[in-house]
Amino acid sequence: FGSIVKEPPLHIIHIAVEMAPIAKVGGLGDVVTSLSRAIQDLNHNVDIILPKYDCMNLSNVKDFQYHKNYFWGGTEIKVWHGKVEGLSVYFLEPQNGFFSVGCVYGRANDAERFGFFCHAALEFLLQNGFNPDIIHCHDWSSAPVAWLFKEQYTHYGLSKARAVFTIHNLEFGAALIARAMAFADKATTVSPTYSREVAGNHAIAPYLYKFHGIINGVDPDIWDPYNDNFIPVPYTSENVVEGKRASKEALQQRLGLKTADLPLVGVITRLTHQKGIHLIKHAIWRTLERGGQVVLLGSAPDPRIQNDFVQLANQLHSSHYCDRARLCLSYDEPLSHLIYAGADFILVPSIFEPCGLTQLTAMRYGSIPIVRKTGGLYDTVFDVDHDRDRAQAQGLEPNGFSFDGADAGGVDYALNRAISAWYDGREWFNTLCKTVMEQDWSWNRPALDYLELYHAARKLE
Ligand code: ADP
Repeated sequence: FGSIVKEPPLHIIHIAVEMAPIAKVGGLGDVVTSLSRAIQDLNHNVDIILPKYDCMNLSNVKDFQYHKNYFWGGTEIKVWHGKVEGLSVYFLEPQNGFFSVGCVYGRANDAERFGFFCHAALEFLLQNGFNPDIIHCHDWSSAPVAWLFKEQYTHYGLSKARAVFTIHNLEFGAALIARAMAFADKATTVSPTYSREVAGNHAIAPYLYKFHGIINGVDPDIWDPYNDNFIPVPYTSENVVEGKRASKEALQQRLGLKTADLPLVGVITRLTHQKGIHLIKHAIWRTLERGGQVVLLGSAPDPRIQNDFVQLANQLHSSHYCDRARLCLSYDEPLSHLIYAGADFILVPSIFEPCGLTQLTAMRYGSIPIVRKTGGLYDTVFDVDHDRDRAQAQGLEPNGFSFDGADAGGVDYALNRAISAWYDGREWFNTLCKTVMEQDWSWNRPALDYLELYHAARKLE
């Protein structure tokens, strides 16, 4: 990477519909913030353009102020500016009410709302004389940026820029993604294994020459057990045992669970088919049968699934397992921190997983991941019994438990080994917690990969 370090600073503009922590639905929101911070830390200039949602928590925006207005698409658009996690963010507020609907996603006209936003964002750049090197868009929701830019705005005056498109999840909006793939100068997805898994997809296959898998990182300042307001005792790998014990007790107390030294399995997830709902349910019962505790934090966009889990929660919370199982069926960022810190294991049994951030965040907090071998989970979790060589090829020690089959037998295979290891070898287990905490799953390496990609994009005709 010696060569790219010497290049002059780039100006990168992200056009995105999620951004942690102010408008986060899933990993996309985390990545927009943490990738941008990593690139900015390498002395490049980054701006983010985001819709101004009415449901946004503005208390996390510093120096929030009115910037200007402009007219486009038959409406007035007010522009606000502020700093989020040290990043410069422009908020677009069209007066047609598109983003005053109480949610990020979930309206019948989402494609129209976000299509409008993409166009308005490019218009904003043009009208204000921005001349970025890279315009980076994400998933189906800002995919239109790629073709609007190439078909129109590159001719209007944003000619220096190159368009980079990142697929965080190919499940949604395949048609939009295919079109963005065609127009983007470079395209990425969020892990090497997922990039191979989707290589045969009709939206991807024609464009493999410009398509790259770059693993996501976790932001080490946003997720830092040594500096985290939501956990009781700060810790590093040096005092991981004490730190995690205090967090486990706090978690048990907060949720009304028995405060005892039991193996605690945490699950933090959107409850959708992708995340392996039947495997999650099975693992809850199996953990309880084995004398462990389970904490699930999750919410389901589909009301039928939400209902199903409400019933499971009622069943568990009124059973003899009531002091060992807690299902929290909401979105709760502070609680997620306490679970990452207080759990022994974080289970991620996804059917498919482009990258997955929960297993990475788990490791940052010294929790051991138990994952299904798919996508980014395969790239980041190395089974203690089976993947020593594969780990060493990356210069790493094994760091978790994994399984293949998307059935009860599969999840049992990993979960049983994990829980047995906890009961039978606490010293070994504690060393494993220390090991995973010391692994570097930050953006240090992936940010350089993105920079290399940005530079390669700039060199294209
Ligand atoms: P996806 O983007 O598919 O949802 P990722 O693993 O990439 O999956 O990212 C999920 C992110 O959302 C993680 O930061 C995780 O901690 C967070 N998260 C998921 N569900 C919840 C919840 N119910 N409450 C708080 N945070 C959650």
